[in-house]
Amino acid sequence: MFWKTRITLTLYNIGVIGAILSLIALVIFMKSQNFLYHAENKIEDPVTFFHRSFMIILTSLILIFLGGWFISGKALVPIKKAWQKQMDFTADASHELRTPLAVIQTNLELIMGNPEETVESQTKWLENILIENKRMTKLVEDLLTLSRADANQQTLDVSSFRIDKVLDQAAESFKPLAKNKFITLNIDTNKKISFIGDQSRMYQLIVILLDNAIKYTDAGGKVTLALKQKEKSVVILISDTGEGIESEHLTKIFDRFYRVDKARARNIGGSGLGLSIAKWIVEAHHGSIDVRSYPDQGTHFTITLPYGQ
Ligand code: ADP
Repeated sequence: MFWKTRITLTLYNIGVIGAILSLIALVIFMKSQNFLYHAENKIEDPVTFFHRSFMIILTSLILIFLGGWFISGKALVPIKKAWQKQMDFTADASHELRTPLAVIQTNLELIMGNPEETVESQTKWLENILIENKRMTKLVEDLLTLSRADANQQTLDVSSFRIDKVLDQAAESFKPLAKNKFITLNIDTNKKISFIGDQSRMYQLIVILLDNAIKYTDAGGKVTLALKQKEKSVVILISDTGEGIESEHLTKIFDRFYRVDKARARNIGGSGLGLSIAKWIVEAHHGSIDVRSYPDQGTHFTITLPYGQ
């Protein structure tokens, strides 16, 4: 489907390169005519002259076309990549939405099939609908965040705040979950550090990483959240002693919808968008996010954020 664009680009290139080359050819031609006229006081035989000119023009046109075709091919590479990414994203999003919709449909059919039953006796089906509906709402919210980020419409609500308090709040909300899973949650956020950025996005970032750390760590494991201060930046460390990630997956986990084990991640509520959003939040704050992981030993995320905007 890109061949039409490529031909259009090639024609543009031909126009531009052709115009430049024609100008150069014209100058050379005029100079050579001038030279012949003055030096030998005669002009070339018109038939030979036209034959030669025709061959030169034809060769130039072929070369210009090939050059234009090559340049337009190169120019299209990033466009093709972006297009493919967009297509994959749409396909993945539709696929992800299809599953909860199918579950909702099936459960509704079960309820509708037994109209004489009480609401109480149908609680199981209603709960399934509720869970899938929540999952779908979260998915749509995440998709909206990412598509707005792509379109540069997702602006940050910047203010000055205590980042240590944000980390504490996020960690607090995970204490019951960690306790239920018999995971020790270590919080090392003693330093009072002021930061300029988007407070709710920072909270969301920590929630995504803590949620993953607890999700992918078994009972008896440890999750640590630490905050460190450097001269020009704050460093947030989130590490766990969980299942870890094989090195072949490490570069892909920030890609949209990427999950190491799709079926398992879905069962524990993962859509594969969390780390893409985390990366966007960090980059929107001009920071960086790094991951180190060792299978069966654990995963360590390091976020470095420069002070202020
Ligand atoms: P999900 O919603 O599935 O957790 P994410 O984008 O947050 O999606 O993470 C992508 C994938 O990276 C996960 O499906 C999981 O396979 C892997 N992952 C992320 N964090 C961890 C972690 N702390 N330990 C092990 N695997 C992780």
